[in-house]
Amino acid sequence: MTISSSLSEARGSGFGADALIACDSVVRVFRSGGVEVQALQGLDLLVQEKDMLAIVGASGSGKSTLLGILSGLDAPTAGTAHLAGHDLTTMRGAELVRYRRSTVGLVRQQSSRNLLPHLTAAENVSLPLALAGAGRRERSNRSGELLRALGLADRADQRPAQLSGGEQQRVSIAVALAGSPRVLLADEPTGQLDEKTSDEVFGALRAVNDTFGCTIVIVTHDATVASQVRRTVAIRDGRISSETLRREQLDASGVATLSEEEFAVLDRVGRLQLPSEYREALGLNERVRLTLESDHVGVWPQHDHDEPEGETR
Ligand code: ADP
Ligand code: MG
Repeated sequence: MTISSSLSEARGSGFGADALIACDSVVRVFRSGGVEVQALQGLDLLVQEKDMLAIVGASGSGKSTLLGILSGLDAPTAGTAHLAGHDLTTMRGAELVRYRRSTVGLVRQQSSRNLLPHLTAAENVSLPLALAGAGRRERSNRSGELLRALGLADRADQRPAQLSGGEQQRVSIAVALAGSPRVLLADEPTGQLDEKTSDEVFGALRAVNDTFGCTIVIVTHDATVASQVRRTVAIRDGRISSETLRREQLDASGVATLSEEEFAVLDRVGRLQLPSEYREALGLNERVRLTLESDHVGVWPQHDHDEPEGETR
């Protein structure tokens, strides 16, 4: 997805009407012991089907809160959020159970929270299928297919303790995919892995994205993993603050290079955050002059001797 397409959707009748995931001004407030924490503060996010997206942000920026809402474990305090036509603010009962079983799959950071230690890799993958009522043959076919796709065919009979950290996380991905979800959500899936193993898990996620066309949203505090995906959005204080897109470009001699460009994010009512280093460099604060040029918008400091136009005292 490009910035311009997300903007044209925002201007259309329904915000994100053709997106698989649409978060519109999502707010999540936690109250504990008389203290209020605004974990999400009006977050806007559109994700198209088959996209593979990383959400990067410091610890405490609201990443897990967002994944909790997308996975149906939690709900927004205000704003709206839809995933594959399900309204995440109102969904409950049987719809919620079905949603968590077959619309989304979740991978957590610690594989001990994704896998049962006394079951083999194949049994761990079969478990959600058994809970959904699948027969023995179907379970065995599906778990075999998933373990093969994740490069684990020869590890099917091993228990988690017999597997490396990277293998455990790949089995966790297979478990999350068992119910053929439209969206795979991963919360710091490589948080406890070294760089090489982390690359291996990202390779597996990209393969899943290519092979099954599954939409993938990964959250992480590690900005270097951003180089592993085409689209990265940065979350700050519970809001998306910037977005980086990577694409392959052919130069004049036909050699492909990867170009990377960071964009500021314009929200649906036109708000834009100016980076603090830009504000400081030009002394931009409180009031700025805006000018519309033929191909860009200019932002100018308001000098002390300037009287803001049109303002009366
Ligand atoms: P991240 O995953 O980016 O580290 P979180 O989404 O876990 O961030 O948390 C965002 C903010 O919300 C933090 O300040 C955190 O302390 C707070 N928070 C998260 N969950 C709860 C909760 N259940 N109760 C109270 N505060 C919470
Ligand atoms: Mg977290």
